[in-house]
Amino acid sequence: MNVQTKIDADAAQKAEHFDVVIAGAGISGVGAAYHLKTQMPGTTFVALEAQESFGGTWLTHKYPGIRSDSDLHTFGYRFKPWTSAPIATADEIRKYMGDVIAENDLARHIRYRHRIVAANWSNADNLWTIDAERLDSGERRRFTTNFFWMCQGYYRHAEGYTPEWKDFDKFKGTVIHPQKWPQDFDYKGKRVIVIGSGATAATLVPNIADDCAHVTMLQRPPSYFRTGRKAIEIAETLRKLQIDEAWIHEITRKHILYEQDAFTRRTFKDPEGAKKDLLSAVEAYLGPDYDIATHFTPKYRPWRQRIAFIPDGDLFQAIKAGKASVVTDEIDRFTEKGILLKSGKTLEADIVVTATGFHLSATGDMAFSIDGKPLDFADTVTYRGMMFTGVPNLVWVFGYFRASWTLRVDLVADFVCKLLKHMKDTGAHKVTPELRPEDHNMPLLPWIDPENFNPGYMMRGMHLLPKRGDKPEWQHNQDYWAEKDEFPKIDLTDKAFVYQ
Ligand SMILES: Cc1cc2nc3c(=O)[nH]c(=O)nc-3n(C[C@H](O)[C@H](O)[C@H](O)COP(=O)(O)OP(=O)(O)OC[C@H]3O[C@@H](n4cnc5c(N)ncnc54)[C@H](O)[C@@H]3O)c2cc1C
Repeated sequence: MNVQTKIDADAAQKAEHFDVVIAGAGISGVGAAYHLKTQMPGTTFVALEAQESFGGTWLTHKYPGIRSDSDLHTFGYRFKPWTSAPIATADEIRKYMGDVIAENDLARHIRYRHRIVAANWSNADNLWTIDAERLDSGERRRFTTNFFWMCQGYYRHAEGYTPEWKDFDKFKGTVIHPQKWPQDFDYKGKRVIVIGSGATAATLVPNIADDCAHVTMLQRPPSYFRTGRKAIEIAETLRKLQIDEAWIHEITRKHILYEQDAFTRRTFKDPEGAKKDLLSAVEAYLGPDYDIATHFTPKYRPWRQRIAFIPDGDLFQAIKAGKASVVTDEIDRFTEKGILLKSGKTLEADIVVTATGFHLSATGDMAFSIDGKPLDFADTVTYRGMMFTGVPNLVWVFGYFRASWTLRVDLVADFVCKLLKHMKDTGAHKVTPELRPEDHNMPLLPWIDPENFNPGYMMRGMHLLPKRGDKPEWQHNQDYWAEKDEFPKIDLTDKAFVYQ
């Protein structure tokens, strides 16, 4: 017996079995655990989390000012009222998740420092075998499960994405990626360039501006931003009236979702009007003399990329105060002292922060196989952005970009619990999505239509993602407002679900 065979045999002997294994303990994994516990009492389950604690995104990202850019009434779960200001720091979100874990006795269902490295489905046993590596001891642990609920997010937590620039290594200053922000990193009195134009850059810039000598946001294409008060009027009014927090949560959620729906639809029906409104809000902070056309006017229709919320216009206030500035240009190459731009201008810096995005990682870097044969998700077609043709007993939670991610966590959880109950009632051990006869001539397209939504990390990784069809069943349409009505009506006896 060679060494690897012996390790496998030992692991198999010690395998622990659960009805459901959840990958990850971010907002999706903790939500999945809550719903299993409350909707499916008696189900055995475990959440395996690579990091040392819960939180996912809100644990990984530690850069100054890290906060949500969605309101927490909709980013919070539907079952747990959010009772503070709508835009929350990472610590506040983790506190909220910690309360959900404590109040529902979920801690004993989560194993930290367990990184899932492989998952194999056996058709003979109707089981997933999941191999995890313990990050503290290096030990391998094996689990078997009937159902695998993938809540591992969509990007690699271990490292962010940094493009390759010419002469990058010549720069003598410090380079950091916000995803790996060193604790106690000293930027006081330093000249800082933040490369990027997304939510991370827009959050970081005003939050370090007071302490830096100067901070420059260097962007290639500009982004749209929404701005407004860090408060929601209807929630404030209801709170003044001493309405119960559960009611405030529900009414505020409905109100926000109604307004977001109206805005999203407007970006399709009246893109110029929506654009004008977004830009006038920026102009109200920066004044008519600021070059908004160059620095804050994207070429694309609003909502083709995520629109970050700028609470109280803090980014614009830092620019107006002269502590921060925006340069819209392209990097030609790095120099010892900074960056030479394509326009010929140079920017000198002590620190360069590469707020340039994520590495898409659809499978949490797990090696998937079916009966030992490697599984490439790019060869599958997605059932509503959560299941995949030919892949049994598996669901992936991929939330919304135009609405809060968590809205879909709750919707998918209802679906999974209903599906598990249906399988139990009918004695099925296995459910596999398959294209129905009427779907066979359907065009197979990339996961998302770039005309609809096209952030850089999606475009870089699209070839790794499952395909979509042109019918609602075979795509993740990013439309919460349609799915909230469609999901509860999913017919589990539809031919798209093949049971055994
Ligand atoms: C900085 C930032 C701000 C954001 N702000 C918002 C916002 O305001 N509103 C919004 O709707 N969305 C926002 N998003 C998107 C955000 O990622 C999601 O909303 C949400 O937090 C994702 O939750 P999740 O649990 O699905 O995934 P994640 O938060 O990514 O958590 C996944 C967890 O799975 C673990 N994991 C991954 N692979 C493995 C493995 N192989 N084995 C074991 N564990 C694994 C990870 O360690 C992680 O803890 C933001 C994203 C970022 C990066």
